[in-house]
Amino acid sequence: MKITALNGFKDIVPGEVELWQQVEDTARDIFARFNFSEIRMPILEKTDLFARSIGEATDIVEKEMYTFVDKQITMRPEATASLLRAYIQHGLHVQKPVQRLFTIGPMFRHERPQKGRLRQFHQMDAEVLGTPNPRVDAEVMAMGAMLLKELGINVSLEMNSLGCPVCRPGFRETPLTFIEDRKDALCDDCARRSKTNPLRVLDCKNPKCREQVEEAPSILEHLCNDCDEHFEAVQKGLQQLGVQYSLNKFMVRGLDYYTRTTFEFITKDLGAQAAVGAGGRYDGLVEKLGGPKVPGIGFAIGMERLVLLLQQQEETEIEPNGIDIFVAGLGEKASEFAFSLVHSLRQQGMHTAMDHEGRSLKSQMKQANKVHAGYVLIIGENELDQGQAMLRNMENLATSHGWRWPGYQGRRRRCPSRAALFCAGFKLWK
Ligand SMILES: [Zn+2]
Ligand SMILES: [Zn+2]
Repeated sequence: MKITALNGFKDIVPGEVELWQQVEDTARDIFARFNFSEIRMPILEKTDLFARSIGEATDIVEKEMYTFVDKQITMRPEATASLLRAYIQHGLHVQKPVQRLFTIGPMFRHERPQKGRLRQFHQMDAEVLGTPNPRVDAEVMAMGAMLLKELGINVSLEMNSLGCPVCRPGFRETPLTFIEDRKDALCDDCARRSKTNPLRVLDCKNPKCREQVEEAPSILEHLCNDCDEHFEAVQKGLQQLGVQYSLNKFMVRGLDYYTRTTFEFITKDLGAQAAVGAGGRYDGLVEKLGGPKVPGIGFAIGMERLVLLLQQQEETEIEPNGIDIFVAGLGEKASEFAFSLVHSLRQQGMHTAMDHEGRSLKSQMKQANKVHAGYVLIIGENELDQGQAMLRNMENLATSHGWRWPGYQGRRRRCPSRAALFCAGFKLWK
């Protein structure tokens, strides 16, 4: 009996992992441009952390978390709560009044596995803690937009404001009455949560509910002065940075902790309309988790969806992680020489490979092709005796003999320079 991976859990194997690396490299580059530092948190946390931050009456906490009931611990279903827990625990607010942090890693939710939605999925998460400035809201959205654009993913940015503890409680009553009147026409989920979390009904993707809430009152008409000013300033910031956006007055997000700005990056390229990333401001959350009174804003981007979108694009070219040089030793003596040469080259920082099975030249050239070698160095018994070898440029198939090293023109990351070969004690060369 073969043992396979659990349902909803997936390996990322060579051939696909290069796309993931490309996404991560781009993300790290963008985060660095915006002066974010990386933080890594453990995967297991106390269950209470998520109940308190995400909210008891949310789908995640109600039915999607992997919780070890006997130990009261949970595999993190999202990153923000853990990141804030770490921020508080290490007093990061003392070290720097404004912290810009990002993290990349797996999250876990127990939901029905479907295409692009796994039980272990991966997110890139960025958070700015310590400033209420609306420019930062715009900056964070601009960062997400830049990241997706540079990856070549087409999205539109939708934005809303959810108000604050001053103006939101009053508004809760307005849709409550509106929804109460239409309760019988809503989907089961919404009928159930119409009392506990009426704002979620506004955001339900079920067409039945969409139709009902079309005319629902919007919180945008009920914002207090401060929230209104903040919302205006965020939009001004986005315009200044040239970030396209549209307002979506029904966006509430599934998590309880958001205040003021919320946003989603929406793609139409996955069949139905889907969010690739989403985030918002959560000004009371750090305090609620026992930390200082510190405002925050951030977003998470789902990596499975990004990879799926990139795989769909025909022009996506997966750049293979090629090697610089393949050393083909022919015969035992030459192979023995190649064995130590390859090691010296690796010590010089070159990506190097060789064959250990004593295969023919033809077969070794095939191997070199398979690993996308930039060059192949061919050493036979004769070459060994004469103190010279043959170097083949695998891109233009030019061959050079003896000590001449051709100018490096390939697209490999590392360039095997002549100097490096000499440093490697490459005494063969005359
Ligand atoms: Zn307000
Ligand atoms: Zn619904």
